[in-house]
Amino acid sequence: MLLLIIGLAIFLIRMVSNTSEYKKCQKCDGKGYWRATKGEKDKCDVCQGAGKVLRR
Ligand SMILES: [Zn+2]
Repeated sequence: MLLLIIGLAIFLIRMVSNTSEYKKCQKCDGKGYWRATKGEKDKCDVCQGAGKVLRR
C-alpha cells in the first residue's frame, strides 16, 4: 500500500515537471520584448520574442 502511494507521488511529480518544461523569460518578464531607450519595442534576444525559455 505504501509502495503504491510512493509510485503515485513519483508519477505526479514527473507529470508536473513535464508541463513546466518552459519557464518565463527573466529578461523580458514573459512579454517577449522590452522597451528600448527611444520607446520602441525591442524583440527579446533571449527567448526570441516567445516570452518563455526552455528550462535547462
Ligand atoms: Zn525574453
